[in-house]
Amino acid sequence: MILAANFKMNHTRSSTKEYIDSLCRFLKKGNFDQDIEIYLFPPATALDSYECESVRIGAQNAYCAEEGSFTGEIGPVQLGEFGIETVLIGHSERRELFGESQELINKKFAFYKERGFEIFYCIGEKLDIRERGIEEVKSFLRRQLLNIDTDYENLIIAYEPVWAIGTGKSAHAEDIAEVMEFLGSITDAPLLYGGSVKAGNIESIISVEGCEGALIGTASWKVDSFCEIIERAQMRKRS
Ligand code: PEP
Repeated sequence: MILAANFKMNHTRSSTKEYIDSLCRFLKKGNFDQDIEIYLFPPATALDSYECESVRIGAQNAYCAEEGSFTGEIGPVQLGEFGIETVLIGHSERRELFGESQELINKKFAFYKERGFEIFYCIGEKLDIRERGIEEVKSFLRRQLLNIDTDYENLIIAYEPVWAIGTGKSAHAEDIAEVMEFLGSITDAPLLYGGSVKAGNIESIISVEGCEGALIGTASWKVDSFCEIIERAQMRKRS
């Protein structure tokens, strides 16, 4: 199972360090199963090689060039300094707020795939598509997966319906199940759900057939809240 915290533009370098220290202490004393994998995507200024073996650090965003004149961007050279080999690609906020086209996203995917990075690839429909029914949702998701190598061995797919992100309104388990089944017919990659996941719903989300974890924004920003999510996920898994 994968539980990943997306800090977005929250936390500083020093608060990220404090967060990781607490998280690491929590994981050590909780005797967590080896097969629960914890990831943290801090802002770029807080990327570092932290001394916490049980937490993997990834980049929320990275550009598709080795290095060069790309103001404001970071790439494999900057990530390599800290041994970071995980990157998030296609998050809806990158698509919507920063105008990342599917073409650019495909380029980023191909670039980081070529370098063997672990890629968390985010897909998800907006509300108007969801309201048109599951067949529309599927064909939209299919388009977001076009030109993405769904057989890539280091791929993790996060299904994040845009209308559920940061709204406090998670998708229903049946809707998630329907999408997981559809994605499972396309790829063997681990499938995550993201969108208003919190301690109160993590158990039902990871109980959905085919769902192998969650990408968590808001409810991961406070370390106690993220720890509670991990604890409940573990309890559910053992029950
Ligand atoms: C996200 O942005 O990836 C996300 C899942 O956010 P939230 O948990 O706040 O909905």
